Amino acid sequence: MAKFKTHISFGIIEAFLVTAAFYCCTKLVHPVQAVVIFCLTLIGSAVPDVDSDTARPTQILFGILGIACPVLLLHALQPSLMLKTEEIFCILLAAFLFFQYLLAWFFFRFTVHRGIFHSIPAALIAGECAILLFYNSIWYHRIFFGAAVFLGYMLHLVLDEIYAVDLFGMRLKKSTGSALSFRGESTISTFCAWALVVFLGILCKFSLYI
Ligand SMILES: [Zn+2]
Repeated sequence: MAKFKTHISFGIIEAFLVTAAFYCCTKLVHPVQAVVIFCLTLIGSAVPDVDSDTARPTQILFGILGIACPVLLLHALQPSLMLKTEEIFCILLAAFLFFQYLLAWFFFRFTVHRGIFHSIPAALIAGECAILLFYNSIWYHRIFFGAAVFLGYMLHLVLDEIYAVDLFGMRLKKSTGSALSFRGESTISTFCAWALVVFLGILCKFSLYI
């Protein structure tokens, strides 16, 4: 298993390459979208370790998600809710505490490291969530954002597999094959993950053509 620091270092390199590729090859990306693609690739490259056995990666990831998710959701809901600034402040604070402490604790306590979060369906789900989260962006930007998260996520899985090979001892470690896998730790988690891939895929298809 690669360390969290390794994932972040490779994630920064990959985020730069992915952003440059989208920016130069498609000619459809402006600086604002380039910043988003960079950040999403980097976040994608770290997210699988939400099930980490050590508390630090989980807390960092939930800290980022605890800020990003409520802000994006409030942005979507604000026109219909017409909330006052102090109400927005309290909602953001509550959401941050929920992500940073309650949800992070739950994941730390109850998830199995190298379980379903280290699998290909989880990478697809993360990409689909990005497409849905940026619901009011231009459709091809949303696909780029989803691809950025997916590519970052896949890099994490590939790195974990590479680190599962003991090059000096020329042998495979016990964790080989547990990251770049189409299944989770149990039949139920595998079934739920693939069902979610299909469900979110359908949502993405409809939301992209509205
Ligand atoms: Zn990992």
